[in-house]
Amino acid sequence: MNGGKPKSPGGTKYDKLVFPIVEVSMMGKARYEYTAGEALGKFLQSLKDGKILGTVCDKCGRVFIPPRLYCSYCFREVDRWIEASDEGVVITAALSYIAADRSKLEKPVTIGVVKLDVVEKKYDDHFFPGLMHYLCGFTEEDVKSMKIFGARVKARWKPNREGSIRDIECFEKI
Ligand SMILES: [Zn+2]
Repeated sequence: MNGGKPKSPGGTKYDKLVFPIVEVSMMGKARYEYTAGEALGKFLQSLKDGKILGTVCDKCGRVFIPPRLYCSYCFREVDRWIEASDEGVVITAALSYIAADRSKLEKPVTIGVVKLDVVEKKYDDHFFPGLMHYLCGFTEEDVKSMKIFGARVKARWKPNREGSIRDIECFEKI
């Protein structure tokens, strides 16, 4: 601060700015831990048990999978928990040539969004944007031709689960 009055009340033009370049010669080691919280914690535990849990807001009818405790559309607490089926419909899909660790893949993986069946609701009755995951059993052509859209899929569960979204290996064509 220069004691009140700015030196350049009109500001400094962008092209006149001089940005200092700072070089730091060290390798940082950043570790992050994220607390799952109540809703996501219960969701991850349900995956370990081979189930997919969500929550429902009865006011707007939205289903949240992964679950949320508050409906961000109605600004109120959700009403209850539901168990979704591990089967559903592919809403959208894409081929990815980038692995989760950002390395380049020679053969692409198929990723997509699956709208799971919810027992008490018909397909068009509820708004549920879907769960993004790997899709398997499809060819590249299925994706490029968009034949994959609307396909029925089922979760392929790992035999030894640990409470992770990867407890589902992929959603497999049925
Ligand atoms: Zn709502």
